[in-house]
Amino acid sequence: MAEEIFLPKIRLLREASLELLFPSTCSVCGVRLGWGEQTKGPVCTACWGQARLIQPPICSVCGQPLSDEVSRDSAEEIMINCSSCQECSPVFSRARSIFYYEGPIRHLIHEFKYRGKVSVGKFLARSMVSLWDSCQVGIPSPDCIVPVPIGIKKLRQREFNQSLILARQIGKLLKVPVYPFALKRVKEVAPQMKLSREERMRNVQNAFQVRNERKVCGRRVLLVDDVFTTGATARECSLILRQNGAREVSVLTLARSVLG
Ligand SMILES: [Zn+2]
Ligand SMILES: [Zn+2]
Repeated sequence: MAEEIFLPKIRLLREASLELLFPSTCSVCGVRLGWGEQTKGPVCTACWGQARLIQPPICSVCGQPLSDEVSRDSAEEIMINCSSCQECSPVFSRARSIFYYEGPIRHLIHEFKYRGKVSVGKFLARSMVSLWDSCQVGIPSPDCIVPVPIGIKKLRQREFNQSLILARQIGKLLKVPVYPFALKRVKEVAPQMKLSREERMRNVQNAFQVRNERKVCGRRVLLVDDVFTTGATARECSLILRQNGAREVSVLTLARSVLG
């Protein structure tokens, strides 16, 4: 009896607080969200349904999606690096991304990064952890999580580091310590959008330093970033972490931009 009286009240209170916590419209298409949808996050079911997960077959090292023909022709060879890993052996043990950087995911990352919607970022981080298994991420439990740092100029403009917000949420859910200041960006880099792979690699060269060697020395580090494009940033950060004694570096990004 008591339950019957209190449950609706509790539900109302819960819903009211959800209204405050989540915007009532979809962050992608603007449609008004139903109660059920709001509990899931700031995106409607239709838009979320269009988010594409990166799933095997992928390169076992850099995580690059491979065509289906590759998997049919030579299942064994999936374990061998893709052509780009063979050309230039990555310093990280493995890199994995959850989503393709396109459609609703691209839109949500934009809302998070450039329009300051931190709640969208937290929702995306929760999704990364809950989809971890479906994507067969295959990253062994790390000793610590290190976000890719942004430069002071960008930090002043944006007021937050998107990778740190993702890292904090992932750390909380995986119960792994996060070291926000283990890496430091010592060189502001030119926007990477239109640069080739080689130009990107030159662009980020010597852009990072390890600030606190003791935090990473002998540890299995999970490096977290928002988008993986050519892997130049992941490679440079991993290199500096390894040079400072990290036992192993795995890279996890929210999304991956797959170049045509
Ligand atoms: Zn929508
Ligand atoms: Zn590869």
